Amino acid sequence: MRTPLIAGNWKMYKTVSEAVAFAKEFRSVVKDVSGVDIVLAPTFTAVHAVAEAVRATNVAVAAQDVYWEKEGAFTGEVSASMVREAGAEYVIIGHSERRRLFGETDVMVNRKIRAAQGADLTPIVCVGETLEEREAGATLAVLDRQIKDGLDGLTPEQVAALVIAYEPVWAIGTGRTATAAQAQDAHAHIRGRLRQWFGADTAEQTRILYGGSVKPDNTAELVREADVDGALVGGASLDVKSFGEIVTKSRQAVV
Ligand code: PEP
Repeated sequence: MRTPLIAGNWKMYKTVSEAVAFAKEFRSVVKDVSGVDIVLAPTFTAVHAVAEAVRATNVAVAAQDVYWEKEGAFTGEVSASMVREAGAEYVIIGHSERRRLFGETDVMVNRKIRAAQGADLTPIVCVGETLEEREAGATLAVLDRQIKDGLDGLTPEQVAALVIAYEPVWAIGTGRTATAAQAQDAHAHIRGRLRQWFGADTAEQTRILYGGSVKPDNTAELVREADVDGALVGGASLDVKSFGEIVTKSRQAVV
């Protein structure tokens, strides 16, 4: 049985004080929710302060990226052990914005996953096709490439311990959500590949989140799908009320 996970990706929004104010209000909104892992992903500058604000609660913190080297002359980069020490337990890797705007490749994603797991962080690895790729009928081939190359060389145990987020790029920040059936099809395909490449136990254990314009009113239908194990939420995670509702609705959908 996979525990559902709801993660909020704040992207480059919220100053430290705004992030802490959110975390303090949000922790009381979700304090009675059990059976769902809840994660907030603030900017690097706010990771430590948000982690302190949710310490000893049912809310965990993610960084939005890491660099794969441990330390060195890499101006502007932050290592996995640095964000771990700052209080993060998860890290988002290979978000489509990083792939599109900052040139991240599957090989880089692979290096970041290894570094994250080496520092005891749980990677949330984003995959997903662009609109052009979907319209060209290339969705499954794109997912295959991102998963094969992104997870290359990992052991079945390492794959079981990470989280995959299927985020069709055409659904991110556009208000255009994949239908529950489209999400389930992609998730079932991903789980099938995990079974083929890493074994049945790994495929059963690995959580696969859906991301792309998730809102309180579409959460339940998505999370109810057999292979959808939660959500990675952008815009709707910036508001305490809507993100709180997403968490509660995901819980109701799986019980
Ligand atoms: C995201 O950035 O991961 C995301 C899914 O964004 P949104 O929910 O705003 O589409």
